[in-house]
Amino acid sequence: MNYSQAVFYKSANALSQLPKDSLAEIAFAGRSNAGKSSALNVLTNIKGLAKTSKTPGRTQLINYFSLTPGKFLVDLPGYGFAKVPLKIKEHWNKLIASYLETRNPLRGVVLLMDIRHPLKEHDQQMIEWLSYYEIPIHILLTKADKLNTNPAQNVFLQIRKELAAINTDIDIQLFSSLKRQGLEQLKAKLDLWLSDVPQDVPAEHNAQDS
Ligand code: GDP
Repeated sequence: MNYSQAVFYKSANALSQLPKDSLAEIAFAGRSNAGKSSALNVLTNIKGLAKTSKTPGRTQLINYFSLTPGKFLVDLPGYGFAKVPLKIKEHWNKLIASYLETRNPLRGVVLLMDIRHPLKEHDQQMIEWLSYYEIPIHILLTKADKLNTNPAQNVFLQIRKELAAINTDIDIQLFSSLKRQGLEQLKAKLDLWLSDVPQDVPAEHNAQDS
């Protein structure tokens, strides 16, 4: 997949506003400041892309970026904002929980955690939700450049061990937007997830397979 084809598609504030033509989509989640915008920018090679999601008014929405017809990257609102009023937090929680619970085209979630602050309470809650709904998880330990190689590797091994105790089906990797570290590994996982489309797609989508 050529991720630099990504273009902003739409924002949604309710399940009824989600695209109806999605065949496969991958959601990006994480605490605010985990490095989600930077990762999306590096992945797509489009500097302004994640700025779209940071545009005031869009930060609390589910933002869709289209790759090819029917395939999307989905930027979920960053969680963990201390300042957000309780009512809005409750709305987000409901929206995200119902999105994860009901969204058929969702192939997996990329969960970003700052390597210096991994597995905070909200991350654990997210991992529990995803595990409960049997949604595949790919974790990026972001800003890996902030640690030297050995300490970074130690965090990686420690977190991998802790996660294996919760869910054996979680993938985890080191990532740095600054150094473009881990980009190929991430793309390989996204390619795999996005290639998983339902069999009953219109005939023209399958033409090249026959
Ligand atoms: P978001 O809130 O999750 O979208 O996080 P941002 O992508 O806006 O990043 C938050 C802060 O972390 C910014 O100051 C970024 O420059 C910084 N940052 C993001 N990724 C990296 C990285 O790979 N390495 C370093 N050193 N800093 C990063």
